[in-house]
Amino acid sequence: MKSPKSASRSADRGSLVGELDDAPSTSKGDAVDLPRIERAVREILAAVGEDPDREGLRETPARVARMYRELFSGLHSDPCVHLEKFFTEKYDEMVLVKDIAFNSMCEHHMLPFIGKAHIGYIPSGKVVGLSKLARVVEEVSHRPQVQERMTEEIANLLIEELQVKGVAVVIEASHSCMSIRGVRKPESVCVTSAMKGIFRSNLSSRSEVMQLIYGDRG
Ligand SMILES: [Zn+2]
Repeated sequence: MKSPKSASRSADRGSLVGELDDAPSTSKGDAVDLPRIERAVREILAAVGEDPDREGLRETPARVARMYRELFSGLHSDPCVHLEKFFTEKYDEMVLVKDIAFNSMCEHHMLPFIGKAHIGYIPSGKVVGLSKLARVVEEVSHRPQVQERMTEEIANLLIEELQVKGVAVVIEASHSCMSIRGVRKPESVCVTSAMKGIFRSNLSSRSEVMQLIYGDRG
């Protein structure tokens, strides 16, 4: 089974524990380097013509550094772990979790995009707790992202970890890089979908999942 980069990275970290107790925070695979972000934010403030030492901005670099640590926390975790605890069930009808709220950071502009993910799958013996799907969305979204890739990544995780018969992932989000700059279209919503297995090959399954996701909207 293919394991993602993040899995081997966290495994590497584990083997280093105890050996490199006083390794600098910049060591490879370590968590976010807060002082480095602080220096960079100071630099940006100076570069746009601000005085980073004026009272209102003094705490800003540290605050932004902590914020980035939170927003990019998914770089240091492996979403697969949430799918490892499954139940063995004969159930082979669709499971759908709708309206999983998320926020992510567009990797092109480092600005947030915010929306909802809908995940439908048809199990082949392995069923996960519903909250686990929300955990997967949370971790995949807490990285520099593009919405299209995020959609694919979630679908592929369900295929690789649960060997589902079919998976449908639909994500709708509004991108602040489109609403506050550039074309400035604040109401636009970007919709992406990834259909795999039965949902790709069978039109009526695909229609059914789309109907369940969007059916109650006028
Ligand atoms: Zn963008």
